Amino acid sequence: MLITMDSTPKTPCQDKLAFDTKKQADVAGLVAELQHNAKLKSYRCTYCSLWHLASSN
Ligand SMILES: [Zn+2]
Repeated sequence: MLITMDSTPKTPCQDKLAFDTKKQADVAGLVAELQHNAKLKSYRCTYCSLWHLASSN
């Protein structure tokens, strides 16, 4: 039996946090920065059209 990974529509970002607006992403990024000392940058995703956070070192 073959396991086909393509049977369900997937995006490369499905495991990432997604935000509806840049503002929400920026706020979440700021919280993460304060809590984890991680520099996060918000960006508009071309796959799901939502906003994600990416670490920027
Ligand atoms: Zn996405």
